[in-house]
Amino acid sequence: MERIYNFNAGPGVLPEDVLKEVQADLFNYKGKGLSVMEMSHRSKEYQEIFEDARATMKRVLNVGDDYEVLFLGGGAHTQFLMVAMNLIQEGKVGNYVVTGSWAEKAYKEAKKIGKLTHIAASSEDKNFTYLPKTFNLSDNAAFLHYCSNNTIFGTECLDDSIFPTNVPLVCDMSSDFLSHPIDTKKYSLIYAGAQKNIGPAGTTAVIIRKDIIDTFNTGLPTMLSYKTHIDKDSMYNTPPTFPVYVVGLVLKWIENKGLENIKQNNIKKAGFIYNVIDNSEFYTGTVAKEDRSLMNVTFRLPNEDLEAKFINEAKKIDIIGIKGHRSVGGCRASVYNALPIKACEVLAQFMVDFEKANK
Ligand SMILES: *Cc1c(COP(=O)(O)O)cnc(C)c1O
Repeated sequence: MERIYNFNAGPGVLPEDVLKEVQADLFNYKGKGLSVMEMSHRSKEYQEIFEDARATMKRVLNVGDDYEVLFLGGGAHTQFLMVAMNLIQEGKVGNYVVTGSWAEKAYKEAKKIGKLTHIAASSEDKNFTYLPKTFNLSDNAAFLHYCSNNTIFGTECLDDSIFPTNVPLVCDMSSDFLSHPIDTKKYSLIYAGAQKNIGPAGTTAVIIRKDIIDTFNTGLPTMLSYKTHIDKDSMYNTPPTFPVYVVGLVLKWIENKGLENIKQNNIKKAGFIYNVIDNSEFYTGTVAKEDRSLMNVTFRLPNEDLEAKFINEAKKIDIIGIKGHRSVGGCRASVYNALPIKACEVLAQFMVDFEKANK
């Protein structure tokens, strides 16, 4: 066996071409006589790698110097805190849309540090199985915070025309970042942990529209202030050098394919699995059809024993990572950008065979 069918929710599958390039350059990066891991982050060689990653990000997002691109450590969890700390000024209110566990964590983090908060919409009434389409903003809103893809529940917003335009939009795009084209200009701040769609764990991309920088709170702890990282070009301290290098390669891979092609491919891939679910009484999708995610396909079998058997038998034919998140149970197949289409065909066929044998 060369590679298994990897449906892990995160860290997730990476493009094979990128892994091979990393492997080829791992020991001796392009004849420089050392590995990227061993380079000074201030060296000319590394500066080029870093600048290249940043420039590719801007091209893929179709933005110019009106946006800052940072690569920070600490994961998306640290962004829950930094967004609240930096963007909610005295007397202003952080507006949150609560559509699942991650979105709720972002909201709770703002509360925890004593910021004024408001829930602008929530789908908790139906256990996060759909996405609210209208938002009730508070007075003095600092921003509207949204999570574009709910990794655990399996809902995704693919239509960013639903957002109000009279308030800065902040988006956690961790699990669907660069999986389809977006209108970047709508967003004041985007963050995404790399390990779902754009690289290995260890760095988080933060994209900030420059016009909101002046509104950031000052006097914050050094590492938690966006200004520190903006002023020092993401090099205030040692950045996650190796993860950013790999992210740069994945960004090039994305750029070469094109976001629209990637989206069409993702529709096809998720479609294989949704198709089986829709044509079966054995499998049940867990979320509203119009809000289904192209990244995380969530479903249930008739009972938990069958689910355990399903996951076990899948493993025997090299399908891994299809157990649902521990907080919700069931099954989840994560079909990120880099997952080959073949993997989805194999899983779909396995689902059909398993149903025949077990219903
Ligand atoms: C995985 C995930 C997170 C958490 O990311 P960490 O990098 O582990 O902190 C946050 N938001 C979303 C939408 C995620 O999918």
